Amino acid sequence: MDTSNVQPGNGSTSGSQRKKPVGLAVEHAPAVSMRPTQLAGFDLHHPPEPELIADCVHCGFCLPTCPTYLLWGEEMDSPRGRIQLMKMTSAGEIGINATFTAHIDRCLGCMACVTACPSGVQYDKLIEATRPQIERHYKRSFSDRLFRSFLFSLFPHPARLRAMLPLLFMPSVSLGALRSRPATFTRAQGKRRRRVGLLLGCVQRVFFDPVNAATMRVLTAEGCDVVVPPGQGCCGALCMHSGREEEGLKYARRLIDAFEVWGVDTVVVNAAGCGSTMKEYAHLLRDDPRYAERARAFSDSVRDISEILAELEPVAPRHPIQLRVAYHDACHLAHAQRVRLQPRKVLHSIPGIEVVDIPEADICCGSAGIYNLIEPQAANQLGERKAQHILSTHPDVIATANPGCLLQINAALQRLGQRIPTLHPVELVDASIRGVVPPGLTKE
Ligand code: SF4
Ligand code: SF4
Repeated sequence: MDTSNVQPGNGSTSGSQRKKPVGLAVEHAPAVSMRPTQLAGFDLHHPPEPELIADCVHCGFCLPTCPTYLLWGEEMDSPRGRIQLMKMTSAGEIGINATFTAHIDRCLGCMACVTACPSGVQYDKLIEATRPQIERHYKRSFSDRLFRSFLFSLFPHPARLRAMLPLLFMPSVSLGALRSRPATFTRAQGKRRRRVGLLLGCVQRVFFDPVNAATMRVLTAEGCDVVVPPGQGCCGALCMHSGREEEGLKYARRLIDAFEVWGVDTVVVNAAGCGSTMKEYAHLLRDDPRYAERARAFSDSVRDISEILAELEPVAPRHPIQLRVAYHDACHLAHAQRVRLQPRKVLHSIPGIEVVDIPEADICCGSAGIYNLIEPQAANQLGERKAQHILSTHPDVIATANPGCLLQINAALQRLGQRIPTLHPVELVDASIRGVVPPGLTKE
């Protein structure tokens, strides 16, 4: 690997830009997380674990699944290369400089390398530990900081996002949807089988309110009392995926507080990115004496909508829908949560539906949280690559379980001059139960 570009002090962290020398504890590092041994390149607040770094045997099996390696063929933009950069930083051979930051920033966090790795390398834990180190020690350019501050003052706040909508051209968002407020409690139809809490999500509730409405109808039809805790905010996923740890943890604690009081059996999520982070709360809040145990219980109760529907044998009759559906595996469902079979099982429960897999299914569509906003060129390339693969399957409909993927694939199809309805799988189940035409399709 060519590391000539990543010498100590190279890049913009040298001199006055770094607040504290690497290897020393920083102010935000809680005392509980101090480790006895100082690392040379990272501070001592949850640095990437050397033991996890050492698990990588450099075999390269992960390389073909890594979207950035696929695009650029650059070793430092591969999982193996990024782990090597972490190892060198950990050993103090390089600092958290511009080059290090660029290669880590370019990682989509898609976790395809995690499922591909035969040695069980926990890249998810490594990248999750590395990003906050960058946010603490690397001073980004003024414009980058400004743009990120803007994004994080907007996306985790549905009310602000909603207020911005008139400025965005979003024909798919109806005024009715913007005004809708789901009931706090909706009773199960027939015999009650579960009492579940529903996460509304930030992007989901603003851009894809019909997905939440469909989720509620399907859950109640399948015998679930549905609670939508009022005051639930952001789950913190966008912040956590971008290294804004304290902000992300604040959201996580608030969400636990909001759901805990309602005593639900299961917390249901229909946005893959949110679900993967909520299942990580136990790990993320492991040092917090007030929340560690509660976070564990909360994480244990989180299920993607496809998981709970696959667990509950269907009781609501399904009407046939004759459609060829291309199912796109959202990375945070397939790789991060290892949920692949359940969405397919749920779609197969609809008579008449043909589910087709998409070539190169393991490769990310380029959405990845705010990635498509901060790395638009790479994101567009990946989006169009995904759209081409989808088009090769000649589907009537595309189904995927993440709002970011829905937006990204729609945008890529539009750039290619194509229009195919994109739906959340639960919208198809809902249409089948109600015996109506799925949204975006017309009756023949
Ligand atoms: S991360 Fe896993 S698959 Fe990739 S090089 Fe290391 S050991 Fe091999
Ligand atoms: S998370 Fe995705 S983009 Fe990042 S190194 Fe792994 S495969 Fe590549």
